[in-house]
Amino acid sequence: MPDSDDYCLYCERDSQQVPLIALAYQDKDLWICPQHLPILIHSPAKLADKLPGLANLPPAEEHHHR
Ligand SMILES: [Zn+2]
Repeated sequence: MPDSDDYCLYCERDSQQVPLIALAYQDKDLWICPQHLPILIHSPAKLADKLPGLANLPPAEEHHHR
C-alpha cells in the first residue's frame, strides 16, 4: 500500500506511476487510473469489494429490461 492517499482504487498504483482520475463517491475522494476506469464504467460490480454499493450500479452499456 503506498503511503500517499492518491492511488488507483483497483491496482493501487500511485500518481508517480500512472495518471490518476479523481472520483467522488459517498463523501470520499477516490482515484482510478485510465487503465481501470473502463472497469468502473462497464463492470462496476467487479469493484464492489472495494466500493461497497457498486454491486447495485448497473453497467453503463447494458440495457436490460424486465
Ligand atoms: Zn489502476
